Amino acid sequence: MINDSGPTHVEETVSETTSDTAQLISNEASSSNYAQLNRSVTLQNSDDDELNGSHGVRRRHPVQKIEPGSMNILSAKYESLDYDTCENHLLLDEERKRGYPFIVWKDIARWFVILQIGVVTALIAFIIDICIEEFSRIKYKQLKKSVDIYVLEDKLYIPYLLWVLSNICIVFFGSVLVSYVEPVAAGSGIPQVKCYLNGVKVPRVVRIKTLVVKAVGVITAVVGGLAGGKEGPMIHSGSVVAAGISQGKSTTFNKDFKIFHYFREDHEKRDFVSAGAAAGVSAAFGAPIGGVLFSLEEGTSFWNQALTWRTFFGTVVSTFTLNFALSAYHGHPGELSYPGLLNLGKMEPFPFQFYELPVFMLFGAVGGILGALWNYINYRLAVFRIRYVSAPWLRVVEACLVAAASATCGFLMMFLLDDCRPLGEDPTKNPLQLFCADGEYNAMAAIWFQTPEESVRSFLHDPIGSYKPWSLLVFIICYFLLSTWTFGLAVSSGLFIPNLLTGAAWGRLLAILIQYMLPSNSINPAKYALVGAAAQLGGVVRMTISLTVIIIETTGQISNALPIIVTLVVAKWTGDFFNEGIYDIHIQLAGVPLLGWEPPPLTHTVYASEVMSHPVFTLRTVESVGHVLELLRLVSYNGFPVVDPPLSDHAEVTTYKRLRGLILRSQLIVLLQNKIYNENANTTWSNLNVDMNMFRKEYPRYPSIDELQIEEWEKSCSIDLRPFMNPSPYTLPHRASLPRLFKLFRALGLRHLPIVNDVNEVVGMVTRKDIARYRVWRHRGHMGMEELLLSSE
Ligand code: ATP
Repeated sequence: MINDSGPTHVEETVSETTSDTAQLISNEASSSNYAQLNRSVTLQNSDDDELNGSHGVRRRHPVQKIEPGSMNILSAKYESLDYDTCENHLLLDEERKRGYPFIVWKDIARWFVILQIGVVTALIAFIIDICIEEFSRIKYKQLKKSVDIYVLEDKLYIPYLLWVLSNICIVFFGSVLVSYVEPVAAGSGIPQVKCYLNGVKVPRVVRIKTLVVKAVGVITAVVGGLAGGKEGPMIHSGSVVAAGISQGKSTTFNKDFKIFHYFREDHEKRDFVSAGAAAGVSAAFGAPIGGVLFSLEEGTSFWNQALTWRTFFGTVVSTFTLNFALSAYHGHPGELSYPGLLNLGKMEPFPFQFYELPVFMLFGAVGGILGALWNYINYRLAVFRIRYVSAPWLRVVEACLVAAASATCGFLMMFLLDDCRPLGEDPTKNPLQLFCADGEYNAMAAIWFQTPEESVRSFLHDPIGSYKPWSLLVFIICYFLLSTWTFGLAVSSGLFIPNLLTGAAWGRLLAILIQYMLPSNSINPAKYALVGAAAQLGGVVRMTISLTVIIIETTGQISNALPIIVTLVVAKWTGDFFNEGIYDIHIQLAGVPLLGWEPPPLTHTVYASEVMSHPVFTLRTVESVGHVLELLRLVSYNGFPVVDPPLSDHAEVTTYKRLRGLILRSQLIVLLQNKIYNENANTTWSNLNVDMNMFRKEYPRYPSIDELQIEEWEKSCSIDLRPFMNPSPYTLPHRASLPRLFKLFRALGLRHLPIVNDVNEVVGMVTRKDIARYRVWRHRGHMGMEELLLSSE
C-alpha cells in the first residue's frame, strides 16, 4: 500500500526541523554545534522511519551495516557522476572569449578522439586474440603429443597431470594479478560499464592499470582452459581506452598530456565511454551495428543522433582495423576476411518453414529456463563468495581449483566416453586417437583440446552424426556447471562464449532428438545449434535487439534473423519470469544505485517531501573559509545548495533560505586548494585570475579535504561562491511525485536535486540513492515495490 495522504504534511515536517536547518548555515557554528546537529539529523531519520512505517513505503533508513550478499541494499560507497553542465560565470566567460571557432575545433577533436578509440581498441583486441591463439596452439599441441606417447604406455595420468598443472599455473598468474593488483578487472566488466554509463562512479573502473590487468587476465583465463570468453572483457577494454584517450591524461602514470582538457567533464567522458564500449563489442564480434545497439540497449542513459553517428564511426573503425590486422597476420593482407575476435564461421542461410516457428519458441523457452537456472546457481555462488571467499588468497585458490576441475572434466569425458569418429570429415586441429581404432579420432578430445570459441564453431559446422547424444548430454551438464562456476571468479573472463557453447551443444542434442522422432525429415544441425546458442545466451543476459544483430553479423546471414529474433524474445520472457539477467543480478548484489528505464509503477502518490533528506546542509553565497572547511570535514555529501544570507538574525532561526545555486564538494576543494578567497568579502571574481581549467586540471580525482593546507588565519577569510556555483540547478517543488523525480534524474543524469517550497526556499535534498532506493520486484508473475536499505560499505 502506498501513502496517498498527499504532500500537505511537508509543512509539519519542515517546521519541526526549521531551527536545525537554520543553525546549519550559521557562520559561527562550532564543531560541537555540528556534532549536535549531526545527531539531530540521525534522530530525525529514525523518527521518520517509524512515522512512515504505516504508509507502506517507508521514507528513510539510517545507514546500516547489513549482512553481506543481501540483494536489498544500496551501498553508500558508490558516488554518482554528474552529467549536468555547471553553467557558472567561468563557463560563460570561456564561451564568450572563444566563440564559434572553438565549437568547430571541439567537434573535430571529438571525431578524432573517436577515430583513435576505434583503432586502439582494435589493436588491443588483435594482441589479445593472437596471444590466445598462439599460446593455446602450443599448449594443446604439447598435450596431444604427451597423450599420444603415454596412451601406449598406459600412463595417461601423466598428460592428465600435465594438463591440470598447466591450467593451474596459467590461471594462477592471471588470478594473482586480478586479486592483488586490480580486483575491479575481474569478470567481464560489462556490469561495471553499464553502471558507469547509467551515472554511477565505480572506483578505478576506467583506469589504464585496470586495462592492463584485464588484457593479461583474459589471455590467462582462456589459455588456462577456463570456461570463459574474451568478448565481455573487450567491451570493458574499449571503455577504458575511450576514457583514457578522451581525457588526455593518465592517473596511473601521473601524466597530463595537456590535450583535450575541454573533454574533462563527466558528460563528455560518458559519451566517449559509450562509444568505446560499442567499439569493444564491434571488435569482439565483428559487429559494428551490434556494437551501437549494445550501447543503446545495455548502457547509456543518454542518447542522441550525433552520439549515434560518432559511436557508429568508432565501431566501423574498430572492425575495419581489427579485420585489417588479423587478415595481415593470417597471411591474407588486404582481404579483410577476419572481422572480429569471435568468428563463428560463415553460416549458410537455413531454410525454415512456418510450422517451425513453435520449435524456435520451444528453444527460446528452454534457453530461458536454463538461463534462469544458470543465473540462479551463479547468484548463489556469488553470495557464497562474498561471505566466505573474500580474502584475495582464497579467491586465487578458488580460481586454481576451477582450472583443475575444468581439466579434470575434459579428461574424464575423453577417457570415459567412447565417441570415435572417422578422420577427415571435419576440420580438427588436434585429432587424438586415444582408444579409437586407426583412422579415427576421439570426438570429445577434439572439443576439449581447443579454445571454447573453436568448439562453438565445431558444434555449428560439424556434419550431423559427429557427436553421440550421450557425449553431448554429459558435455552440456559439465560445461553448464563449469561456466556458471567460472563467472565471478577472480579472473578476467566473459560469459558469451561459454553460454554459446553450452547452447550450441544442447541445440545439437535437440536436433538429434527431432531427427529421431521425425526420421523422414533431414535435419540441419547447424540451424538448431545456432538457435540453441542464441537461446542459452539470451536466457542468461536477457538482451534481445543487440544480441540478434550481433549473432546475425557474426554469422554473416541476415536471412536467419527471424528464427533468432523469435528465440531471443521467448528466451527473455521466459527467463524474466524467474529472475533478472545476470548483469542486473551482479549489480544488485554489489548494491549499486542503478536507475532502471522506468520509475517504479504506482508511485505517483509518493512525494518529494517523503523522498528527500532534510534538514539540508547549505552554504551562503559568501562564506568564511573556516565554515566551508568545517562543513566539508563534518559531512561527506558532495553537493550543497547555495542560499541567500538571512536578512536579519531573527530570520536565521525562523525561515528557510532562498536558493541561489548549487556547489559541489569538488569545486569547493579546488577553490580552497587554489586559495581563491580573500580577507575582503567584497572582492569581485574578475579580479581573481581563474578560469575553468583550474577545475579541469584536477578532474576526475580531487584531493580530499584533509590533504589541504589551510593556515589558521586563513579561516577568517571570505570565499565568494557565486562565480563558481551552478546558478540554475534543476529543482522540483516538494509536492512533485517520485516518477517526476525519477525521470529528471534518469534523463538528465543528475546528481543532486534541491527540493524547494513555493517561494524557492530549500527544504530538502534528493540524490540518486534516494530514488534508487525504491525498487520493483517481480517473482513468478507477482509484483510489488520494496524500499532498499542503505549500507555503510
Ligand atoms: P553522491 O554520493 O551520489 O555523489 P552525495 O555524496 O552528495 O552524492 P549521497 O551519498 O547520495 O550524496 O547522499 C546520501 C544521503 O545524504 C541522501 O539521502 C541525500 O539525500 C543526503 N544528502 C546529500 N546531500 C545533502 C545535503 N547537502 N544536506 C543534507 N542531506 C544531503
